[in-house]
Amino acid sequence: MTADWLDRGQAHVWRPYCQHATAPAPLPVVGAHGCRLHLADGRQLVDGTASWWTAAHGYNHPHLRARMQAQLEQLPHVAFGGLAHEAGYSLAARLAALLPDPLRHVFFTESGSVAVEVALKMAMQAQANRGSARRGVLAFAGAYHGDTFATMSLCDPHDGMHHAFRGLGVPVEHLPVPRDGDDFEARFAALAPSLACVIIEPLVQCAGGMRMHSVSVLHRLRAVCDAHDVLLVFDEIATGFYRVGRRFALEEAGVVPDVVVVGKALTGGSLPLAAAIASEEVFSAFHHADASRALQHGPTYMANAVACAAAHGSLDLFERDDYGAHAAKLEGWLRATLEPLRDAAGVRAVNVRGAVGALVMQPGSAPSSDRFAAHGAFVRPLRLRAADVVYLMPPLLLPDADAEVLAAAVHACLG
Ligand SMILES: *Cc1c(COP(=O)(O)O)cnc(C)c1O
Repeated sequence: MTADWLDRGQAHVWRPYCQHATAPAPLPVVGAHGCRLHLADGRQLVDGTASWWTAAHGYNHPHLRARMQAQLEQLPHVAFGGLAHEAGYSLAARLAALLPDPLRHVFFTESGSVAVEVALKMAMQAQANRGSARRGVLAFAGAYHGDTFATMSLCDPHDGMHHAFRGLGVPVEHLPVPRDGDDFEARFAALAPSLACVIIEPLVQCAGGMRMHSVSVLHRLRAVCDAHDVLLVFDEIATGFYRVGRRFALEEAGVVPDVVVVGKALTGGSLPLAAAIASEEVFSAFHHADASRALQHGPTYMANAVACAAAHGSLDLFERDDYGAHAAKLEGWLRATLEPLRDAAGVRAVNVRGAVGALVMQPGSAPSSDRFAAHGAFVRPLRLRAADVVYLMPPLLLPDADAEVLAAAVHACLG
């Protein structure tokens, strides 16, 4: 029943986040269309995770394919150092136009983790270029910002998947996400003299457990950062492009950070591309006759032209249709699907915001992906130290029939 390439390759592929001694074999996928994964044995699974939250428009979208194909024929790739191409330059202008005005300087990378690293470098070096010795970063409990060394150090120090690497990476302090009536401002003031920047996933901390906070948290962060001359970085790699309701979470809050990081759904799940986008003020801290004040960074495949074309295709689709309405519809559906499971065995909390829905469960109690697959759904619970989290973040264009399959699978496995 399985594909022979799977058997031959299994001895050689080192899988992500995988304990090879105990993990079942991965599901062999031979095609993906709309919101469905087509498996080698002929089964179809409705994808509840949109390939790590990237495939906002579903798979194999004809418009994305057409934009990528046209670019492939014209110019697949040239280095971005000393050379320029239309796909990249027009994409930078287009992204800047989607964001509040001071955010207009776009640095492209191939992955989200590296874009977060670039955002940190922008913040630290902007401080240094202005004559400040501040190097520290404030991150939050429950955070996830990537798997590279600097970004691992930002992740939740206890419950995050990277706690074994604590102390390596950048100098970082962690505080709980502010809550009403706490003493966050006082604790921040004590740390501020050593801080270059604060980084947060606005409104929803995703890989750290689908934890949600209100817009007032972002207002408070903007206020303390302004008061203490600390830069504010929003990591919108997961929340951007309508996942939590509006185009960006920053719009929901009406708060403008100094740097915003985007990735994941930027190319609609087709090719790797991310970006750190800085304000005029941050960019101008690098603007100087002295070459050593420049940002020394340049990933080999940055702004790959086919990836930029894919991003244009994804932005075309976001523009043509009302994705805010799609996210709102999914929010209603997620509430209707997950709220009735509030009292199910092992469930501690139900969290829904925009097109993110999660059941927070006792550690070890979430059903396996195989059980969901037996009911026609691909669902991959997060397994943290303090909780298991069964979440749904499907493509934003989820047909009703596919939504029914997902809902029925979750109820069959948990109800
Ligand atoms: C996925 C994710 C990253 C890392 O992006 P990669 O492309 O996997 O390196 C960083 N921050 C957040 C919020 C993410 O969800």
